[in-house]
Amino acid sequence: MRIVLTGPPGAGKGTQAVLLAKRLEIPHISTGDLFRANISQHTELGKQVESILREGGLVPDEVTVAMAADRMERPDAEDGFLLDGFPRNIAQSEALDGLLRDWGHKLDAVLDLEVPEEEVVKRIAGRRVCRTDSSHVFHLDYSPPRQEGVCDACGGELYQREDDREDTVRKRLAVYHEETEPIIDYYRAQGLVVTISALGTVPEVTQRAMAALPDRGA
Ligand code: AMP
Repeated sequence: MRIVLTGPPGAGKGTQAVLLAKRLEIPHISTGDLFRANISQHTELGKQVESILREGGLVPDEVTVAMAADRMERPDAEDGFLLDGFPRNIAQSEALDGLLRDWGHKLDAVLDLEVPEEEVVKRIAGRRVCRTDSSHVFHLDYSPPRQEGVCDACGGELYQREDDREDTVRKRLAVYHEETEPIIDYYRAQGLVVTISALGTVPEVTQRAMAALPDRGA
């Protein structure tokens, strides 16, 4: 299965992506995680994108598409993948369509997580991420770690993403509405969009997503 997961920042894309990818036995490809890994490893790419992430802007399309294409071409993604945070604008969607066409593949679904804006702000304010692996995500109220400040999965240090601070969150929401939301209509025209509510517990949302995906009834 080839799936795009979309929705505003704070919808729970990262959390759901990890769980859904596991259930569907496909790799979870998060462009945000890939950028953060490059930043923490001080790579050239990391240096190039660090300030963009800090300010909540979008990394230029050619950089993002090249990085995502590279990851999608790895052998573990041959039979499918779950894209999280990519594509994030129409140009990236068109680039992805072009890549898939070249590879003789197509998307199976675009899963759109819907969440009210007040909830987004609450979720992001309490979010804490593991410094060792940013796909390990916790929330101070909704899914606190067993030990404060320590990742349950690997013992890494938990921190608040710099772009999760309030003014950056507002910027990221504005970018979402302006740049990313239009991809939903783009994919709707291809009959691919499945919208589900992202409210409720983490397992409830996972279950809802599994039931909504094509050929994968719960
Ligand atoms: P995320 O973890 O998906 O919230 O992404 C964190 C940040 O990484 C975003 O605010 C952007 O600065 C950058 N980023 C992630 N994915 C993309 C993308 N597809 N296009 C451009 N920038 C991206």
